[in-house]
Amino acid sequence: MRATVLATGGAGYIGSHVAAALLAAGHQVVILDDFSNSRPEVIDRINAIGPGRAVLVRGDVRDGAILDALFGAHRIDAVIHLAGLKAVGESVEKPLLYQKVNVGGAVALFEAMLRHGVMRLVFSSSATVYGMPERMPVTEDARLGTTNPYGRTKLAIEGIIDDVAVAHRDFAAISLRYFNPVGAHASGTLGEDPRGVPNNLFPYIAQTAAGVRERVRVFGDDYPTRDGTGIRDYIHVVDLAEGHVAALEHLLRGDDVEGRNRPINLGCGKGTSVLEALAAFRRAVGTDIPFQVVARRPGDVPEVVADPGLAEQLLGWRAKRGLAQMCADHWAFQRRRMRELG
Ligand code: NAD
Ligand code: UDP
Repeated sequence: MRATVLATGGAGYIGSHVAAALLAAGHQVVILDDFSNSRPEVIDRINAIGPGRAVLVRGDVRDGAILDALFGAHRIDAVIHLAGLKAVGESVEKPLLYQKVNVGGAVALFEAMLRHGVMRLVFSSSATVYGMPERMPVTEDARLGTTNPYGRTKLAIEGIIDDVAVAHRDFAAISLRYFNPVGAHASGTLGEDPRGVPNNLFPYIAQTAAGVRERVRVFGDDYPTRDGTGIRDYIHVVDLAEGHVAALEHLLRGDDVEGRNRPINLGCGKGTSVLEALAAFRRAVGTDIPFQVVARRPGDVPEVVADPGLAEQLLGWRAKRGLAQMCADHWAFQRRRMRELG
């Protein structure tokens, strides 16, 4: 089936890969983005990969008039909602901004969807909704609870979608709970390009390998894990993007999806420590990457690894790309960015 899909935040790190995966699967794509955390040239790069071309609507997802014009101009079958703010540290400093943009954006978008009869939604949620998980690997029925304002916006939006699906029985949604997306598109043209000092491990390692940062700070080596450093479930962003296509197609097939918002983990189900990630990246780069163990980062948990069984069972999706590929692709994109920046 060929669908027309609105991807909000489609110029961002994950959204650009989702747009490319949708085009690759033969769908039509409309991107709504205000470029508050991305660049317009990303759209050209998505379209250079093709096949077909994504249509861009530049604007804020909170703007009802823009949404009405967009839904009026394009016959949208489903929405993938990725637009939002995502920096945990910033959300602690600016909790109201996070409510306004993330929750406000979601409410404005869902209102517009209902006004225009668009009843299929895939939402970008996060493993952060599990907070400090009690059991590993984490299944979707684990107790929810988060430790920061960013995570609270994700929980709030999941709850709003639950309520919309109860009130409108023909509405169907999937909330994808991402674990740790890393890597880049095989073309080397799409990837993660954070502004300022990266918060996340992979961009920090990549910038250190490129000589932009002096050394990687390893946040604690006294966790109760195999080498003392934090363990996460890293997932290649192209696998993650393909998970969105699988979720979308599941919703469009329509078997037992209406009247519910189903949470689904997207992870590999494999834990990698900070030292293991560093070693793998070193192999991809072929040179040493300086690091130093420093104090734990406040709020970090020792281990978060997905049980991705539901995604496989329900969507027929499973991550295919391993850690070596994640590092190689992340590094290829970093090198290309460095060349572009001179
Ligand atoms: P990103 O910042 O690269 O992409 C977000 C995109 O949304 C950007 O292009 C930005 O310009 C756009 N945007 C922001 N506010 C907007 C608004 N009000 N109106 C229109 N466009 C707006 O982030 P990402 O890493 O691609 O994340 C995408 C989604 O996935 C986010 O909702 C994020 O919370 C979620 N997520 C990300 C991660 C991760 O590790 N990257 C993990 C879990 C969940
Ligand atoms: N980490 C680190 N140094 C960094 C950034 C992260 O040691 O500069 C560690 C962090 O403590 C965690 C893992 O790397 O154990 C993944 O952190 P990231 O911020 O990428 O993801 P999240 O904490 O959201 O899972």
